[in-house]
Amino acid sequence: MSGRSQQDLRPTAHPASYWASTGNPAPKLSELAADLQTEVVIIGAGFTGLSTAYHLQKAGTACVVVEAQDTGWGASGRNGGMLPPRYKKGYAAIAKRYGNDVSRRLHGLMLEAVDTVEAIVADCDINCDFHRSGQLTAAHSSEHLRSLEADRDWMASEAGDKAARILDRHQTMDEVGGGSHVGGWLDPRGAGIHPLNYTRGLATALLARGVEIYGRTPVLRLVEEPASVRVETPRGSIRARHAVIATNAYTDATGFAPGKLDRRIVAINTSVIATRPLSANVAATVLPARRMVADTKHIMNWYRITPDNCVIFGGRGDITGRSDNPGVYAMLERQIVETFPQIGEARIGQRWSGKIAVTRDDFPHIGRLSPSVSFAMGYGGRGVALSNLLGKLLARLARGEAIEAGPMSDNRFAPIPFHAFRVPGMQIVASWYRHLDAKAIRAERRAAA
Ligand SMILES: Cc1cc2nc3c(=O)[nH]c(=O)nc-3n(C[C@H](O)[C@H](O)[C@H](O)COP(=O)(O)OP(=O)(O)OC[C@H]3O[C@@H](n4cnc5c(N)ncnc54)[C@H](O)[C@@H]3O)c2cc1C
Repeated sequence: MSGRSQQDLRPTAHPASYWASTGNPAPKLSELAADLQTEVVIIGAGFTGLSTAYHLQKAGTACVVVEAQDTGWGASGRNGGMLPPRYKKGYAAIAKRYGNDVSRRLHGLMLEAVDTVEAIVADCDINCDFHRSGQLTAAHSSEHLRSLEADRDWMASEAGDKAARILDRHQTMDEVGGGSHVGGWLDPRGAGIHPLNYTRGLATALLARGVEIYGRTPVLRLVEEPASVRVETPRGSIRARHAVIATNAYTDATGFAPGKLDRRIVAINTSVIATRPLSANVAATVLPARRMVADTKHIMNWYRITPDNCVIFGGRGDITGRSDNPGVYAMLERQIVETFPQIGEARIGQRWSGKIAVTRDDFPHIGRLSPSVSFAMGYGGRGVALSNLLGKLLARLARGEAIEAGPMSDNRFAPIPFHAFRVPGMQIVASWYRHLDAKAIRAERRAAA
């Protein structure tokens, strides 16, 4: 398996995000400058790669992590830090498509995903503000509220899980402290973290436990040999029994994409703004219970408030992949004020973007490219908890064990047809989604008038 054209191999600083400005010191990683041998080599030091390393180390399997940039430089250090105990598709819809058994399995795995992060935080004593704040899914239309109700009913009747509850319009507005949602779904098990501090804390703990992590070390080629694999980097190589690819939306950022993995996902920009700290009076009215919130629009907005009263507000990024498109940030600034009029012209402290990896069926995928190469990727905007779970499952694959994760592990993860035309394709889909979202909101306003 060889690398294709070498693209951007330059070390790039972390984006100037809220998380970077409030982050704990990063562990110092050296660049690989030798030829090493280990049991498992892991490519990528985000949640997926670090969780794989954590679980391998726990199981007594030697591993080495190589990262093109720095710990948490990818999506893991710049996301919303929200752990919703839901997939993009609701459980009732999953049951309809795949059957009750699969939906029950996925439901159990999702709860395990959030628990996995909590357990790692506790075991490694990571200072990352993990808290079970509760996750609110805010419905922008009655139709979406009905599907949340169907989820609640499915969970209660088929999984014996009555933790989530449906909120009406007024309860949702009270929880959000604004917005114009028609209702919502509140699961108290949803959680939040400081994502960059989580990755830095986990990397620090792994280094202390003897796991080697190399930074500024892009893998250029992966060569399969009869009884081993070898990854080649600019100044050194690692021979191992097994390789794990944990590069998610940044697969191919360096020209390295074995098995056409880059064409099995579509990498999409997501952009974020963070306000400067709100005054205590105003902050008390915004997300008063400190919930993590995502709405149900096709082009979703999501938001949370930090311990120092900054609102972090995210939404769609530039479709062509630009991270500095002023129009995208201006739109987020309009949306944050529409949602929370009380914050007025809040001053924005940071603006940043990152890439999510979208798949055709909206599920992440985990599997093997060959007996000695495994991968997990494609989390969409729901990877904080799931990538930690799939890291745990990757550790099992790398140890030669079998895994069962419903559609996430069923090997239906083929390259996407017409992948080369994804940008114009996404532009068309985004326009259509914007139209559908606006139409649904207008209809709700008319009905409420
Ligand atoms: C702005 C934003 C907000 C988000 N918000 C949320 C949220 O609130 N909740 C949620 O659940 N999910 C969210 N997500 C999604 C979530 O962040 C990701 O799914 C998750 O971080 C993926 O982790 P990962 O380790 O697989 O990938 P990444 O963290 O992207 O790590 C991949 C790493 O691989 C490295 N790499 C790539 N190529 C090579 C190579 N050739 N050699 C060596 N290293 C390489 C990259 O440098 C990178 O560090 C968000 C994503 C973004 C971008």
